[in-house]
Amino acid sequence: MLKANANYLNLPGSYLFSTISKKVAAYKEANPDRTVISLGIGDVTQPLSPAILKALHAAVDEMGARETFRGYAPDLGYGFLRTAIAENDYRARGCDIADDEIFVSDGAKSDSGNIQEIFDEKCVIAVCDPVYPVYVDSNVMAGRTGLYNENAGRFENVIYMPCTAENGFSPSLPDKTPDIIYICSPNNPTGTAMSRKDLQEWVDYANKNHSVIIYDAAYEAYISEEDIPHSIYECEGARTCAIEIHSFSKNAGFTGVRLGYTVIPKELKDADGVALHGLWARRHGTKFNGAPYIQQRAGAAVYTPEGKAEIKALVSYYMENAKVILEALKEAGYTVYGGVNAPYIWLKTPDGVKSWEFFERLLNEAGVVGTPGAGFGPSGEGYFRLTAFGTHENTKEAVERIKKI
Ligand SMILES: *Cc1c(COP(=O)(O)O)cnc(C)c1O
Repeated sequence: MLKANANYLNLPGSYLFSTISKKVAAYKEANPDRTVISLGIGDVTQPLSPAILKALHAAVDEMGARETFRGYAPDLGYGFLRTAIAENDYRARGCDIADDEIFVSDGAKSDSGNIQEIFDEKCVIAVCDPVYPVYVDSNVMAGRTGLYNENAGRFENVIYMPCTAENGFSPSLPDKTPDIIYICSPNNPTGTAMSRKDLQEWVDYANKNHSVIIYDAAYEAYISEEDIPHSIYECEGARTCAIEIHSFSKNAGFTGVRLGYTVIPKELKDADGVALHGLWARRHGTKFNGAPYIQQRAGAAVYTPEGKAEIKALVSYYMENAKVILEALKEAGYTVYGGVNAPYIWLKTPDGVKSWEFFERLLNEAGVVGTPGAGFGPSGEGYFRLTAFGTHENTKEAVERIKKI
């Protein structure tokens, strides 16, 4: 008898951004003459930069010539890209990571959703709250989270680590020891980042308790402050407890190109001494046929001198928006966080209104779309996320409208 995977039926509602799209579509239909500005979903708006385009074109031409045509890519990634990543993102920063500890993929969403497959079904997960919804949802699909409590907005077997204004958006060590700890820094949605000292505490905790930290560094390129680590491997002892996930989406604008990577050091083992590196390699070999050659060439261009300069300019473009939003909101009397090491501004909703209520108000009164904090976890209630990924023009227009409500 055919039965659907019951774990999926345990997922709360629909994916956050599908719910938002539906609400925005309904608003547009009811208000056809109103322009809606989206500072909602975390998607880039600037075109790919010249060094990337050049690499893409060259790779396309190679694919069209008999001598340089390529079929299946190596499932763990081409050597030229794994070396460029290890050299630039790690060894140049003093982190001891070998080329063959880099696993190239089609993006950080897949990796952050799939990585839980190499752990036991009974492992207990801990997540920063609020955070990128993929971590919890992918564990729900795997049957690891227990039942959802609608009223509390949480799963019974998940350890939620509140990150709120009260603790400076940095999670405290939990009472109960988790097996898998998800940390996203700089964080989506709060836009805040963990200090080197705080992250070191987590690394020490994970090593002591034999937990693994899954560190999502998707916004690493946006870090502007000195004492914020760019990689968890900057911390002493991270090689025995941490997996790191990266994306080319937010730094180089690859949201539509698709490329990312995951790092698993060879020393990282479970309590019985099983190396996770081999498991993830096996998983790639079975379920993934490699990121496309053309994309990997574009990824390598990110690490050329021209590529680096262009990516820096892209990041600055978005961070100018962040500054505009931060300043305007402060001027309008809002309490705001983030926007310094990440392209997200996290604001406290005025008068403590619920975050979905503030979503409706912003959409109806200003024609601006943001993201309700509650969509990222129970501690996101009473907060609201705006992104700096718009164009300068749209961002300025949006804040002018927000100031008027
Ligand atoms: C955007 C985002 C990703 C997704 O990256 P892709 O490489 O585009 O799949 C992963 N993690 C976080 C926290 C993100 O915000």
